[in-house]
Amino acid sequence: MSASVRMAPGRIDPSLPPLRANLYSDTQTKPSTAMKEAMMAAEVGDEQHGDDPAIQELCDRMAALTGKQAAMFLPSGTMCNQIAILTHCRPGDEILAHELSHIVANEGGGPGALAGAVVLGLKGARGQFDAETMRAALRERRRNSPPQTLVEVEQTANAGGGTVWPLDKLNAVLDAAHAEGMRTHMDGARLMNAVVASGVPAHEMAAHCDSVWLDFTKGLGAPLGAVLCGSEDFIDRAWRWKQRLGGALRQGGICAAACTYALDHNIARLAEDHENARILARGLAQIPGLEVEAPETNLVFFDTSGTGLTADELAARVRTMGVQVSTAGKYRVRACTHLDVDRAGIDLAIQAVREKTRG
Ligand SMILES: *Cc1c(COP(=O)(O)O)cnc(C)c1O
Repeated sequence: MSASVRMAPGRIDPSLPPLRANLYSDTQTKPSTAMKEAMMAAEVGDEQHGDDPAIQELCDRMAALTGKQAAMFLPSGTMCNQIAILTHCRPGDEILAHELSHIVANEGGGPGALAGAVVLGLKGARGQFDAETMRAALRERRRNSPPQTLVEVEQTANAGGGTVWPLDKLNAVLDAAHAEGMRTHMDGARLMNAVVASGVPAHEMAAHCDSVWLDFTKGLGAPLGAVLCGSEDFIDRAWRWKQRLGGALRQGGICAAACTYALDHNIARLAEDHENARILARGLAQIPGLEVEAPETNLVFFDTSGTGLTADELAARVRTMGVQVSTAGKYRVRACTHLDVDRAGIDLAIQAVREKTRG
């Protein structure tokens, strides 16, 4: 059986006009000239031997930022999730996570394929669940039930609409997990979006998590890299998986330097992306037939069913005006703001959707 790959629409079709507003994803950000200069200036060494100063600096900064003892640099966020799961779980273990979470929907079945763990998908509005829902999913501890060992939360909740878990709701879930002897993991791909939107510092957001990671390739604009944080012991054990999976690096500091640059320059400005998302949502909400979910950070989801167009049809139409969005369901479109989309791009996107949904 062959696995077909669905590409972003029109990315490589030469008959389409150049992109003027790429709202497909914040993963599409490109490293700036200043970021590349920081990469060129990086002092590097052999990471596997703990000899890469640029990676060490990034890991020290990330441990401090998240309030954890230790940190580990990895090529991607998916690898952070999978290595965390491998470190926390044994084959046959059950992980509790939201049914729309990235580890359920977007990691190729990694928890099953790699750790041999099962994920139990929990329900809840906007990509979040509460402590009561989690407790209701707990199994009696019997010889024939899977050991439930890990609770995973996404901050922000991507498919939930880029929503920010309120701190009390988050901690109630994490505390309930700990009370059951489970471990807790935070997929913080967009953790800094949650921090900027809420004003709650990262170390407070992650205080009740045994592990947490941040992606640098989303709104932070780096070409690759994510950092997984936790206790000394956790990171020690996680390192063995990094090594086994071929994620141990040599002069990876050249990329870590881009991430450190992002920590210094690209966090406060996430507020602009959030503002652009609000402007986009307001503009779209005035277009007949669209149902827009109120954005909390940089992701804007809207439903096209009232226009008679599917999400794919609308995406293909606005692409002819140089606007790219992604789809998250038959009638659900996702538009993502980031540092390579300015106000003019937002205005163009609103105009394109208005024109292409008309008549
Ligand atoms: C993007 C994303 C990931 C995976 O990160 P990569 O760096 O693309 O591997 C995991 N979780 C969430 C919520 C994401 O948005």
